[in-house]
Amino acid sequence: MAVPGWYTTWAETHRKTFVLSAEWVDAAELWWEIFESRGVTGSELTAATRDLMTLGANAPKYPGDHLPAVERSIGRARNAAAVERRKSYGETDAARCDLCLDGGWVIVPHPKFVRNGRWEPSHYRESGSPNYVTAAVACKCDRGQSTVESCGQQNRPTQTLANYETFCPNWRIELDEKAHAEHRSHVIGEQAASLADGADGADGIDRLKQRLFSGPRG
Ligand SMILES: [Zn+2]
Repeated sequence: MAVPGWYTTWAETHRKTFVLSAEWVDAAELWWEIFESRGVTGSELTAATRDLMTLGANAPKYPGDHLPAVERSIGRARNAAAVERRKSYGETDAARCDLCLDGGWVIVPHPKFVRNGRWEPSHYRESGSPNYVTAAVACKCDRGQSTVESCGQQNRPTQTLANYETFCPNWRIELDEKAHAEHRSHVIGEQAASLADGADGADGIDRLKQRLFSGPRG
């Protein structure tokens, strides 16, 4: 997997900006495949680094949190750009709900699998990757309210987002993190295959896992 020079240059700049170790750049290079698959550009990455610099106390705490945070920042920037584009077409966003996009329903971690505010896997697949189950709850907006009312009239009581958030306030972060966990297991699968072909063997895979899942250090 060839990583382009401009990407490594960005990773070095990001590393220096946040005083991360040289190993962080190795981990960033393993993420190239994910960024490439989403058509991420150098200017998007540079903007994400600047965005993270402005987060202050909410900036990523551990080295392993940086790449998911960069990815989320790019997602937010793309979403903001899409909203601007729609406005430039003359479309009004006034009535649009960001949570349910006016559909009335929001997809959340299934309440049955939420323990102490954390989303647990329902089971593990044969590959060893976790399986997460979602559920739909009625949104907090007007459209969500009419969903609750029409379900009530049909004798189908509905969980509401407002009530759901009392026991899982971090549901959006949980959704984000678990989606990333799935990407990571995909990267490991691919990398494991290529390492198994080389001289690195099982040791290489272990090192790779350590890099990708490195938590708090020191
Ligand atoms: Zn809504």
